[in-house]
Amino acid sequence: MNIIHQDSFQSNLVADEIQDNFRRQVAGAHFSYAKPRIPSSPALLHFSPELAQTLGFGEEFTSSDDFLAIVTGAKVAEDSRPYSMCYGGHQFGHWAGQLGDGRAINLGEVSHKDKSWLLQLKGAGETPYSRSADGLAVLRSSVREHLCSEAMFHLGVPTTRSLSLCLTGDEVLRDVMYDGNPAYEKGAVVCRVSPSFIRFGNFELLSSRKDIDNLKLLVDYTIKHFYKDIDLSAENAYIQFFESVVKRTLDMIVHWQRVGFVHGVMNTDNLSILGLTIDYGPYGWLEGFDNDWTPNTTDKQNRRYRFGNQPPIALWNLYQLANALFPLINDVKPLESALDKFKSEFIIERIKMMKAKLGLVNEDTGDEDLINQIEVVLSLSECDMTIFYRLLANVDQNDNSEDALQIINEAFYIADYIKADIKSKWLNWFDSYLNRLKKQSISNEDRKIEMNKVNPKYVLRNYMSQLAIDKADNGDYNLIEELYTLLKNPYDEQPGLNKWFAKRPEWARNKVGCSMLSCSS
Ligand code: AMP
Ligand code: MG
Repeated sequence: MNIIHQDSFQSNLVADEIQDNFRRQVAGAHFSYAKPRIPSSPALLHFSPELAQTLGFGEEFTSSDDFLAIVTGAKVAEDSRPYSMCYGGHQFGHWAGQLGDGRAINLGEVSHKDKSWLLQLKGAGETPYSRSADGLAVLRSSVREHLCSEAMFHLGVPTTRSLSLCLTGDEVLRDVMYDGNPAYEKGAVVCRVSPSFIRFGNFELLSSRKDIDNLKLLVDYTIKHFYKDIDLSAENAYIQFFESVVKRTLDMIVHWQRVGFVHGVMNTDNLSILGLTIDYGPYGWLEGFDNDWTPNTTDKQNRRYRFGNQPPIALWNLYQLANALFPLINDVKPLESALDKFKSEFIIERIKMMKAKLGLVNEDTGDEDLINQIEVVLSLSECDMTIFYRLLANVDQNDNSEDALQIINEAFYIADYIKADIKSKWLNWFDSYLNRLKKQSISNEDRKIEMNKVNPKYVLRNYMSQLAIDKADNGDYNLIEELYTLLKNPYDEQPGLNKWFAKRPEWARNKVGCSMLSCSS
């Protein structure tokens, strides 16, 4: 069982000298050894065969008792020495000090076809970083993380992955709405997979402690293993590193805005240094297009992490990373210009992305205005983002604006848009859009094909996860499989599964889990 071996992070970086799971402040180290808790009655609910294949796991292994034991923490593979990472972070704009993997334990590395992946259990019990919490995860949040990680991957969004979803057989106490009504829920463990789980917060904590030697070790390690095109011996290697992190983060955020994903907790401890979407907690998907929407109840008042604020928050987080790296660079200018570049590049990349969503394939001076205006009209009444863009591909450039509005009619939740003032704005927008389409030579059919490559037909709507969770809670896991299969091909028509190409049903509008979520997972 030497499928999982120690990874480069633990062999190159500094381990905490204490080898126990008890909670503590860990100084002078990058990680602490931690033992996964033995689950009382582990059961595999679902796994991703595609990811297993990527890891080189054959069917014989994934259907074995060993597989279940390893991905639940019941057994530690021979060459694996599990550990949790030490990191800090800015939470909701404030420095929070040491956080660390409070309920995540890295098992080690799997190598296959010249690639290496780190396997990490989430919810396998207490670690030195559990602070006042229990290190456990519940079924509902684990279903959400498992399904969404894989859905995002298949949408083409940079993300960590999820290999498996298991029940532990243990009960976990949670106060879902923080209203003094705790209840027992089923405990679960997800096995996450990523080249690395290093976050902005790993660098921030070392820097805040003025532990510059360990900061340098971590930066050098990250460059050497994950930014291989940077020559570490170059004088400006650290600047190049920061510029590359800026670029990868920007790329991830543009994808989020493209598919309508709202992370919900963009604290710096939840931003991957590889620009991967990480830590699926109270995330959500836009239904009615709304720049102000956030799924996170904890953030209801300030809406710091609302959809429209994700790009500036990513930049804010990059400022914190720049501050953390400063002691190695000692020059403000190149850091500032990399941060400025985020702003200018975001404008360019957003226009590129939005043009693709609208099916605009050549250049026109009015495009920026057309793009800004569609977000304005989409916000006038509750209009489903995913359905709107998908139906927009059916518009013929020779339609008149009334016909075009009829084609996207199904995207509206309420019939508000027929109010004269709103309707006239829609008709005006369509007039401009249809005129714009006439300025390019691509056929309607080809434009539709191109648009359908960037506008998904199916996303993991919040109520869909909740339906799968409710069923799973009653022992029925079929819907997890159905959604998993559906979301493997989010851009395909999949006529047999058309029922998921639908607006959120009314019963889900204000239901817990379908509209708002708490961090209490
Ligand atoms: P999050 O914002 O959910 O990613 O978590 C913020 C911090 O809280 C991280 O350090 C997590 O490891 C920790 N944390 C969250 N939930 C738990 C839990 N149930 N037990 C221990 N630590 C947790
Ligand atoms: Mg986190």
